[in-house]
Amino acid sequence: MRIAVAKGDGIGPEIMDATLSIIGATGAPLDFEVVDMGKTWYEKGHSSGMTPEAKNTIEQLGVLLKGPMETPKGKGMKSINVTARKMWSTYANKRVFKSLNGVETVFSKAGIPIDITMVRENIEDTYGGIEHMLTEDVALCRRFITRPGSIQVHKYTFEMARKKGAKKVTCGHKANIMKITDGLFLECFYEVAKDYPEIKASDIIVDDLAMKLVSRPNDFEVIVLPNLQGDILSDLCAGLVGGLGFAPSANIGDNVCIFEAVHGSAPDIAGKNIANPTALLISSCMMLRHLGMTHEAIAIENSLYNTLQQGYHTIDFGIGKDKQLNTTEFSQQIIKNLQ
Ligand code: NAD
Repeated sequence: MRIAVAKGDGIGPEIMDATLSIIGATGAPLDFEVVDMGKTWYEKGHSSGMTPEAKNTIEQLGVLLKGPMETPKGKGMKSINVTARKMWSTYANKRVFKSLNGVETVFSKAGIPIDITMVRENIEDTYGGIEHMLTEDVALCRRFITRPGSIQVHKYTFEMARKKGAKKVTCGHKANIMKITDGLFLECFYEVAKDYPEIKASDIIVDDLAMKLVSRPNDFEVIVLPNLQGDILSDLCAGLVGGLGFAPSANIGDNVCIFEAVHGSAPDIAGKNIANPTALLISSCMMLRHLGMTHEAIAIENSLYNTLQQGYHTIDFGIGKDKQLNTTEFSQQIIKNLQ
């Protein structure tokens, strides 16, 4: 089976090479087709951030394992990441936040394990970037929430919750203030929830949700949110499990799915071979499961958990220097633990 791979910018190539070498070591029957996508191609004049050949390959293969991509700086410059999500209508962004043994956090120290799955609506809301100056002193941004868009993300969330055996799904929103837009998102949530009577559906105002996530994270199992609120709160959840280095994601569409880490291209540490490849590696496990390669996904996850439990870590987490490894060494340790 062939999949498309875009290595990305900044730390992208470093963590992608680490991830591909680990997947390769499992013997997964996968061929990687590396495509031209990222800042370089944006700067070469491809406004979508990819060549037409890359676009064709991704559409043909339907699965893209993607490294982080830098957003070109300046007014009017489009994010390649947002363009890709819109281009292929990847309407749901699933992000999994799970405590990992060996990754010390405030909650692990208190003996509270975390397991939260967040679904962020991925193509609507304020992310159209439709903004303009109304007058010299007034900036205006348009926000779109549609019934079909909301229904499809809620359906995805409940189906996913049913498959994973979740008992409750919570919808975060700000419908108390944005009564029409968030109101529609919430109305669609309860409409879809009716078809899943075995799952407890409830809702919560997003500011209250933010507070409860840091004080009582175990109250939540699966959370669905509009785009911007989901973007912010998923970084908060990454903090609960040790930081951005541990937050994987899957962008789900009907024809193309994109698997990538939640974090960005980390320009501050790029080129030093010190980045943590874990988030991309767990994203690749989500991809392997999506492709039916559950055996390989489990093998990688177990090997990663063993590596973390043995105390090996990259510079962004862990204690002490004696088991601190660079990106390449960390991936080699995971490969060693596969055997
Ligand atoms: P970032 O996520 O790149 O970095 C934030 C902080 O986390 C930095 O200190 C960085 O060193 C650290 N960090 C991130 N990933 C890490 C890893 N794997 N290992 C160790 N440390 C890690 O966020 P930013 O600096 O705001 O964004 C940089 C660029 O990435 C921007 O151009 C932004 O638009 C883009 N971005 C891309 C994506 C994506 O491709 N999906 C997501 C977010 C941001």
